[in-house]
Amino acid sequence: MSVFQHMSFDDHERVVFFRDPTTGLKSIIAIHSSALGPAGGGCRMWPYASDDDAIKDVLRLSKGMSYKNAMAGLPMGGGKAVIIGDSRSDKSEDLFRAFGDFVESLGGSYITAEDVGISVADMEIVAGRTSYVSGLPHESGTAGGDPSPKTARGIFHGIKAAAAHKLGRSDLEGLVVAVQGVGHVGYYLCKDLAAAGARLIVADMDDQRVQRVVDEFAAQAVPGDEILLQPADVLAPCALGGILDAGSIPKLQVAIVAGGANNQLATDADGDALRDLDILYAPDYVINAGGIINVAYEYFDLGDDREVMARLEDIGSRLTEIFQAADQQGLSTNRVADAMARQRIGRA
Ligand code: NAD
Repeated sequence: MSVFQHMSFDDHERVVFFRDPTTGLKSIIAIHSSALGPAGGGCRMWPYASDDDAIKDVLRLSKGMSYKNAMAGLPMGGGKAVIIGDSRSDKSEDLFRAFGDFVESLGGSYITAEDVGISVADMEIVAGRTSYVSGLPHESGTAGGDPSPKTARGIFHGIKAAAAHKLGRSDLEGLVVAVQGVGHVGYYLCKDLAAAGARLIVADMDDQRVQRVVDEFAAQAVPGDEILLQPADVLAPCALGGILDAGSIPKLQVAIVAGGANNQLATDADGDALRDLDILYAPDYVINAGGIINVAYEYFDLGDDREVMARLEDIGSRLTEIFQAADQQGLSTNRVADAMARQRIGRA
């Protein structure tokens, strides 16, 4: 399949393929837009079934990063890296050194960080070969480190904004939230929600991760294939993308969809389908920008941890603005957010 003809190709500026036979590294970096600055976005390690699946993912994710960074008001364009491989069995220090060389070869036009399957320890190895990397261990009080708790805190502010807009609620006490995926982001989101008095229903393919949130936050566990069917106030997708489609949407029993996973909608029309069913959708790249805000603050030295935390609150007000505009224009929230993001990038 040609990249230029690919369904998910959106006039990306660069798509670069890298192979290192010695370490087994197979990686793709896509730079969607550098209009607002060097392209920022995490690196995902995933055992893609085909090269085409990997290309599709990196094209979609990098475009999402352009929109995310633009909407978060960051001085960064959009990019993303994927490593084709299983993060449980295919990692090695040499592999991440080779990935660091790949990032370095792009001369700073792409800045990497953690995404699914990648840890802070992996990024430390990458940092041995390139300075175009963020999400590194940091001293207490400074910005940086694992972006996941910041992503979760931003989602928490987003859920509060959605609950206020849709349900007229000023607090989250007793709010029922179904969380799909309790990995890095999902775990911290559960923590913030439980502290605010919300009731949690959770599912994950990893039983240990489920048990942890059951033990720590009194969450109710359900089988993975039932989480989207749960009656709840909010569905928070925090696993992988593409879960909201013509098959799943009619079965949802929630008033709000607001979670951290990237590319939750299989197609733009699925956002319209949610609107038709009176389900309020918080556009994923707006609500899950907390991690990249943390990354940008670390990389560009924009402020300390306290300032990052304050900036995360803006995610709530930004979503409220989108919800109100969508109501006024009679459009789905994803289309309103896309138009805003494109306008910001176009202006640059
Ligand atoms: P993670 O790998 O730590 O967690 C994902 C979890 O989802 C895992 O525990 C996995 O077992 C589970 N999972 C996968 N498929 C599932 C299914 N069908 N049903 C239930 N559980 C399932 O990844 P993460 O860092 O927490 O990221 C989660 C999502 O949030 C991803 O889409 C990622 O791109 C997005 N995101 C993450 C960050 C971040 O800061 N880590 C920032 C923005 C967006």
